[in-house]
Amino acid sequence: MEDESYFPIILVLLLVGFMIISAITISVKTSSFLTQFWYKWIGWKSFPEIQRFYLPYLVRSFPFYSRLDDRHRRLFEGRVQQFINDKEFIPRGGIKDVSDEMKALIAGCAVQITFGYPNIRFGHFNRVLIYPDDYYSTITRQYHKGEVNSRGIIVLSWSNLVEGFRDPTDGLQLGFHEMAHALRLINIVDNDEYDFYDRELMEHFDFAALMEIRKIRLGEGPSLFRNYASANSDEFFAVSVEVFFEQSDVFYAYNPQLYTMLSTILKLDPRSGKPIRVVSR
Ligand SMILES: [Zn+2]
Repeated sequence: MEDESYFPIILVLLLVGFMIISAITISVKTSSFLTQFWYKWIGWKSFPEIQRFYLPYLVRSFPFYSRLDDRHRRLFEGRVQQFINDKEFIPRGGIKDVSDEMKALIAGCAVQITFGYPNIRFGHFNRVLIYPDDYYSTITRQYHKGEVNSRGIIVLSWSNLVEGFRDPTDGLQLGFHEMAHALRLINIVDNDEYDFYDRELMEHFDFAALMEIRKIRLGEGPSLFRNYASANSDEFFAVSVEVFFEQSDVFYAYNPQLYTMLSTILKLDPRSGKPIRVVSR
């Protein structure tokens, strides 16, 4: 009889507890102060520890990672491991096994371009297909180096990905390019990461990009961006993300307004001469 009389009190306490936890969760998501506090002191500990054999690939291939301070480097590692744990990597077209290097490089690209955001997991994408070289798409009837699609698949060709890492300052990086497409796609499709970036700012960026696209198409003077960027706004964004990370200083000197917009969208400033600045934290 006595046990039963406690039942409503326990129920109320559970309900209050649930409401407090929900309120904290919502506050953390909506308050920049709490978000900063959470990710500065607590959040980074919630990522899995990286498996040590991935580390040499990060050190060798990601100057961005090497320039981070200790705390952010551990955060980068945890997010790389999380990406690897979350995704199914599938070998295609003659590749027998997906190597540790493949996983580390692909995950590193995804983590680097979203590093300004506390925890973008590319949740919409659950499979990563890896081809040895350019592959033929039966949908577009063309050869591709990589693509992302709304069915949740990221496709990359290994030879082109490796080529992108060969010179980290040439503004060509397939991994960043495809992840930039994925980033825009996850803001369009309906998923739990929906609307994480400022849509208005992206519209301003696209508008400013039209000037550059026009410049390239009409040959109105030299452009920092390769011809392919002028195909459409999506391609311009993807190419500009490559240039943003690999030629930050040149990009800023060339068009500070466009650079600053992209820096605000990605919440990062990777210009040299100082540690990487994570704008939001
Ligand atoms: Zn593209």
